[in-house]
Amino acid sequence: MPINKNETKALVDRFGRTVDYIRLSVTDRCDFRCVYCMGEDMTFLPHKEVLSLEEIEQVASAFVDLGVKKIRLTGGEPLVRREVIKLIRAIGALDAELAITTNGSQLVQMAPELKAAGVDRLNISIDSLNPERFKEMTRTGRLSQVMAGIDAAVAVGFSRIKLNAVIMKGRNDDEVLDLVEYARASGVDVSFIEEMPLGHISEHDRAEAYCSSDEVREIIEQRYSLYPTTERTSGPSRYYRMDKTESRVGFISPHSHNFCSECNRVRVTVEGRLLLCLGNEHSVDLREILRRYPDDIERLQQVIIKAMDLKPEKHEFDLDDEPQIVRFMNMTGG
Ligand code: SF4
Repeated sequence: MPINKNETKALVDRFGRTVDYIRLSVTDRCDFRCVYCMGEDMTFLPHKEVLSLEEIEQVASAFVDLGVKKIRLTGGEPLVRREVIKLIRAIGALDAELAITTNGSQLVQMAPELKAAGVDRLNISIDSLNPERFKEMTRTGRLSQVMAGIDAAVAVGFSRIKLNAVIMKGRNDDEVLDLVEYARASGVDVSFIEEMPLGHISEHDRAEAYCSSDEVREIIEQRYSLYPTTERTSGPSRYYRMDKTESRVGFISPHSHNFCSECNRVRVTVEGRLLLCLGNEHSVDLREILRRYPDDIERLQQVIIKAMDLKPEKHEFDLDDEPQIVRFMNMTGG
């Protein structure tokens, strides 16, 4: 199935949005069990349903050839996949910025090799600076290990490191200022994220825990003035600067500030499902193409180009209803 050479190879959807950013999940597994992400007893995918490292590399390379400028590897926890460093080296050699979202648990050992493999940016999830609470929220995580990982990453010198914190009322909204202080002291950025309703988790009431970005901003402004900037990464964060620091504060607000009109990204799950929108189920099975026509990159690219027509205009999240999305976050790819 040859590509029509007269056609431009850029990925543009029906609403005129250019897709130049992909998030690739490399595993659904994780060494943590965060309460808003997973149930306590999760069943993970059997190996044959998961894309091989070579298949993930093919997908990444096909997208870069179609004009994608930024790739983010996610999970689950991407750094727990066996031999993931081989994949990271291969993707690091492509002509695109490479970022990883991680829970930080492996960074003490892996930070230097990630940098050497071509990783530009790291997002490190950290929702609490209180060891007991961190343990409660992640069920299996150790705060000291993650903080040592953040130090290791800072020492290695990535072009940007950002902490990501999901703020929930009654759970960690009293730590907003501590997280800002910690980011300032470490010389990294911090983004506060409104929780997204993915997957049903019985012991957790999302409407009650919801904390809007505006509420978080008010808390920070009790101590620091926040100056809006026009600086953007290719993600959905809106950034603010503070006095006397290079650290920026970002807000990711899927509920209160719908960012769909600027959406430039798609996701690929570890099963090879191309998801056109985080908040909708529209998807295309790339694994089927990869396995039925191995090495036919042009065919894969045609399928990806065609899939852009399925990208919906916007997501609809409603905290009071059952989630319309039944995938868990670890299946969606962060
Ligand atoms: S939120 Fe991240 S660290 Fe926590 S269980 Fe999910 S994938 Fe793991």
